[in-house]
Amino acid sequence: MSSGAAATAAARLDLERVRAEFPALRQEVHGRPLVYLDNAATTQKPRAVIDAVRGFYERDCANVHRGVHVLSQRATVAFEQARTAVKAHLGAADSREIVFTRGATEAVNLVAASFVRPRLGHGDEVLVSHMEHHSNIVPWQLLCAERGATLKVIPIDDRGDIILEEYERLLSERTKIVGVVHISNALGTVNPIAEMVAAAHARGVPVLVDGAQAVPHAAVDVRALGCDFYVFSGHKVYGPSGIGALYGRREHLLEMVPYQGGGDMILSVSFAGTTYQEPPHRFEAGTPNIEGAIGLAAALRFLQGLGLEAVAAHEAELLADATAAVLEIPGVRLIGNARRRAAVLSFVMDGIHPHDIGTILDTEGVAVRAGHHCAQPVMARYGVSATVRASFGAYNTAAEIEALVRGLHRVREVMG
Ligand code: PMP
Repeated sequence: MSSGAAATAAARLDLERVRAEFPALRQEVHGRPLVYLDNAATTQKPRAVIDAVRGFYERDCANVHRGVHVLSQRATVAFEQARTAVKAHLGAADSREIVFTRGATEAVNLVAASFVRPRLGHGDEVLVSHMEHHSNIVPWQLLCAERGATLKVIPIDDRGDIILEEYERLLSERTKIVGVVHISNALGTVNPIAEMVAAAHARGVPVLVDGAQAVPHAAVDVRALGCDFYVFSGHKVYGPSGIGALYGRREHLLEMVPYQGGGDMILSVSFAGTTYQEPPHRFEAGTPNIEGAIGLAAALRFLQGLGLEAVAAHEAELLADATAAVLEIPGVRLIGNARRRAAVLSFVMDGIHPHDIGTILDTEGVAVRAGHHCAQPVMARYGVSATVRASFGAYNTAAEIEALVRGLHRVREVMG
């Protein structure tokens, strides 16, 4: 999008009204107005989400799928409507393709256990990119160790883009799944998912996409992407924590073995043998996070109400302005400067530890993340152990970018 078009779309976000929806933004820390730039870790919650969760507790609190009484029926309807809301938000064809999980991490583990484990043999391969979050690395390492398979890594270039020719070279008949992040939480890289899926499918390889950082910032359409699985977490998209979702193509879910055993995932149980529910309930053992799902649906409605294009354009503008301003500070080096980036600015400053930067910024009221961002392999790729990460959300403002930049100048003064 050109910057002119971005500006027009951004004009449609009424930031004052957006911010008024978030009670937590109206506070001071260390005597300064809070500038919350740690959205990639988790987002603040709008009143619509708080009210939805509270409404469940105040009126409809009951277990789902089991009761004949009114409250249980209301809870069940609200829970299943939340599934439909997730389905619509991701552009899935069928709400039976949506499995509620604790978050992105559990969704990856579910696919590893129920889809990949039965088809992964000795000498087979799992392919992930060098910029994955630990949650899209460690489950595969565990599984590969168990099955005698190998985890292969798709290299990235110095800018932080996947090297597509290398990716295509690594795909083979041994590859049993590709796991790739849609938007990197450490670099901000937006990966060419549709292209990567097409390349994998041309060789019959299924693809899991980690959308934890994409769902908050972009309109996602799983059918346009063509992926087999797509995972995300509620808490990064203005919803509650402890809830997230797995999208899985119906034909895959139908074939998959249960993930965990327990109540709600069975049709009948006897000591002679047990039969399982159809997907998605087959993969939702035990009482689910009902209020979480209801809150997540409220969050997705809230985001749609803002308009994903307007949000994306606004955040693109913040990122462009922040990038330019931060680069003017002496000794700053960006970590990740990919062709397409979204909502994440990761950098280091010569001679100053990221934790010191984070701590000084905090005294100025500016909340950023300093650390490895659960992506140690990509930190190692850049020869750093940690970065400072400012990550943006729909409610951030140009004035907050200025506060970040003022804070970084202060860091220079204090640390010399
Ligand atoms: N993938 C990415 C890209 C992430 O940023 C995160 C959270 N930082 C996760 C996966 C894991 O999400 P969760 O901890 O909510 O399961």
